[in-house]
Amino acid sequence: MLTIGCHLSSAKGYEAMAKEAEKIKANTFQFFTRNPRGGKAKAIDLKDIEKFLSKASDLEIYKILAHAPYTLNPCSPDEKVREFAYQIMTDDLERMEYIPGNFYNFHPGSHVKQGVEKGIDLIGEMLNKVLRPEQSTTVLLETMAGKGSEIGRNFEELREILDRVELQEKVGVCLDTCHVFDGGYDIVNDLDGVLNKFDQVIGLSRLKTIHLNDSIFGLGSRKDRHARIGEGKIGREGIVRIINHPALRNLPFYLETPNDLEGYGKEISFLREAWIEP
Ligand code: FE
Ligand code: FE
Ligand code: ZN
Repeated sequence: MLTIGCHLSSAKGYEAMAKEAEKIKANTFQFFTRNPRGGKAKAIDLKDIEKFLSKASDLEIYKILAHAPYTLNPCSPDEKVREFAYQIMTDDLERMEYIPGNFYNFHPGSHVKQGVEKGIDLIGEMLNKVLRPEQSTTVLLETMAGKGSEIGRNFEELREILDRVELQEKVGVCLDTCHVFDGGYDIVNDLDGVLNKFDQVIGLSRLKTIHLNDSIFGLGSRKDRHARIGEGKIGREGIVRIINHPALRNLPFYLETPNDLEGYGKEISFLREAWIEP
């Protein structure tokens, strides 16, 4: 079965997200660990978690994806900003242990005139401070569109970050289809070529999740503007090839398209129909 879901609001807790997922026939979902701008997280609600875990097992929801606040910058030139990123990531990963065995995705950050190499060093240092041998969560670096001084705009940069990590089995990659396309990887006309490149540079075994988005702007635009499935430059056919590609078809897919719950439901039912049973 295709594993697909979308981004859901975590404001009402985990059980509420599982119920929403059920409504739209999603068997996974993504959520922000706290306000996406990085505010305080809600206290852990053990009852909610217990209900969620039982509901998730009934619905066969697995491999949910937490997304770090996007304002975190683990490679900021400002030490206070880096310290803030460290605090939030540490706290988020402690919380994730209440729902063990899932994924935590973050944007590598922006180096802001320090240069890519310095930025990569700082991200590597951050990961080595944050990761614990006993954690059950896999931390994922997201492929970025390359706006401004964003790190992770190509596979080589992500590989360099991964190379600096001591606890190798705790890290992986989340590929965002809008971002890689905006970053200049032609997943529309040469999906095989792009995935071969990913395999050579990073290794497909490191690829754990896919953010499935169409892109408003064209190949190499570096704009990072998500479109609904079929309403962007990747297009319906391009997206259908992605979910059916042998290297990707069994990974979990998460929609981050501009939609309400009903819109997500429609995209999910379209994609379920377009996914070819092996
Ligand atoms: Fe993201
Ligand atoms: Fe994304
Ligand atoms: Zn994006």
